Amino acid sequence: MFKFADTRRMTPEKRAAAIDEARRLMQDADRVLIGAGAGLSTAAGIDYGGERFRDNFPAFIKRYGMTDMYSAGFYPFTTEEDRWAYWAHHATVNCLGADATSLYRELYEWARTRDYFVITTNADMQFEKAGFAKDRIFATQGDYAHIQCVTGEHGIRSDAEEFAAIERDTGSGARTRITDAGLVPTCDVCGRPMSMHLRIDGSFVQTEDWYTAEERYRDFISHIPEKPTLLLELGVGWNTPVWIRMPFERIAKVTDSPLIRMNYDSAGIDGSIKNSVSVDGDMAEALPLAIGEKQTEGEASHD
Ligand SMILES: [Zn+2]
Repeated sequence: MFKFADTRRMTPEKRAAAIDEARRLMQDADRVLIGAGAGLSTAAGIDYGGERFRDNFPAFIKRYGMTDMYSAGFYPFTTEEDRWAYWAHHATVNCLGADATSLYRELYEWARTRDYFVITTNADMQFEKAGFAKDRIFATQGDYAHIQCVTGEHGIRSDAEEFAAIERDTGSGARTRITDAGLVPTCDVCGRPMSMHLRIDGSFVQTEDWYTAEERYRDFISHIPEKPTLLLELGVGWNTPVWIRMPFERIAKVTDSPLIRMNYDSAGIDGSIKNSVSVDGDMAEALPLAIGEKQTEGEASHD
């Protein structure tokens, strides 16, 4: 076992050995619980900052001084026309107009022959796009494909058509304000403004589908004691550890299930969990290696 308890980087040797160990666990697994956070999508190329942000949001950067899509999501827009110009573009860039990335596809090709379930805090719907069955995904924080009434009391609705119309109005984000005020989404029930169906504050709507997914997740977990299950945690940091990171450690402890944690940093695992593997650094490289279909150049075979 290779543990890493702090923020220092693993040595290349330890990392290569940990990836080998992860590959062995992944090949042996018939059943897997995948827990995925923002780090997986970042590794898959859905980067919220850097070049991708600068390429897609130049007008917003110029007007607001935004630095990345994560913090932009909390920007206090002063008008609804400004707010929805941003969010329609954000949702289009990251979800509505995006295809499945190759990293998620590779993960699916590995998982599809196994009994799997996914819990994710990611709103980009990459699991679904890559082929994972909708009834085996629990997206705890909502997604970019739905909007809800600000009151949180009047359900949710698909935003695809409304956002497409807004993108046409703004020239796909070339302008930062909607010119046709009629395009601003409002609630069908009470006429109040809408918000994204994302867990940003306490008004997040947990729909019937949300509770159904949660129940399926709990059911999947309940069978871990009699069905050996690999816990595969990918890119889960410390933003919302209560959904995946902490429960996965708890499940590993209680059931002795193997736990693989891949994360760019903070990949360390509680030392009391015996059967665990930490892999830090770039998951775009490490995950395909652990899946086992690709070998890095010059990598020694340990099989
Ligand atoms: Zn309403």
